[in-house]
Amino acid sequence: MKTYSSLPDNERKKEIECNLCGSGDRDLLWDCDGYTFSRCNDCSLIYQYPQPVNADLSCRYDNKYFEYEISNEEIFFNLMLKTLEDINFKELTIEIMEDNPEFLDVGCATGLLLKHMESFGWKSRGVELCTSSAAYGQKVRKLDIFNGTIEEAGYRDNQFSVIHSSHLIEHLTNPSDYITEAFRILKPGGLLITTTPNTRSLQAWLFGKNWRSAIADHMYLFSDKTLSSLLLSNGFKIITIKTWGGIAAGMAPGFIKKPLDFLAKKFGFGDVVVILAKKKG
Ligand SMILES: [Zn+2]
Repeated sequence: MKTYSSLPDNERKKEIECNLCGSGDRDLLWDCDGYTFSRCNDCSLIYQYPQPVNADLSCRYDNKYFEYEISNEEIFFNLMLKTLEDINFKELTIEIMEDNPEFLDVGCATGLLLKHMESFGWKSRGVELCTSSAAYGQKVRKLDIFNGTIEEAGYRDNQFSVIHSSHLIEHLTNPSDYITEAFRILKPGGLLITTTPNTRSLQAWLFGKNWRSAIADHMYLFSDKTLSSLLLSNGFKIITIKTWGGIAAGMAPGFIKKPLDFLAKKFGFGDVVVILAKKKG
């Protein structure tokens, strides 16, 4: 089953070039119902083509989206904690914790992770496009959340020790701009954590256009390779790459799912990838 997504039928669409290498040479990969994904013939990045224009796309993150976020926030929070454990976040940030650490969560939704980080001594800020989600985090959790995009937030150069995003980058119309902005506002030596679906996974290969992440809300679908290229070309050093998820719950019996999950994690063909990168300097 595919992840939640919206697909309004009255959006304006635009033609784009590959966001990673700038090439216009692409082939149609998946013809889904009402939207299509192509693959760049030069760098293999998979992206929705054509794409809705930004002004129309941002309307998708409405009250219905908020309801989806709030009803699943515990599940998403626990997955994020597991991811942070997988990359040894606590051990890696022992030194950072001594120096007024600032943590930014981009696409922070209702702010459960920010609240958690605050309780561990981090000064936490969030960025969230969905107005209702941002308002919930501000009012109910008393968090510092900017309602808009990271570029609009206008943070200072070298401000943050850590920037985290989970299942954000695939929703953006310009992931390259996001990585560039993250680089600018991270301190030298600061950490960037990016979690996104992985196209070099068993499930993407098995299900193709019916893969659960081939949804209308995803503008870009990265792999461990294409996301690494984007980070490297923006001056980051890759520290850790992990993938997980062999087969989705309900798609196979436990005696098949368990070993597949184990092997996916061990050999890097999991359904989701996290990359921990460091700003050089
Ligand atoms: Zn390309």
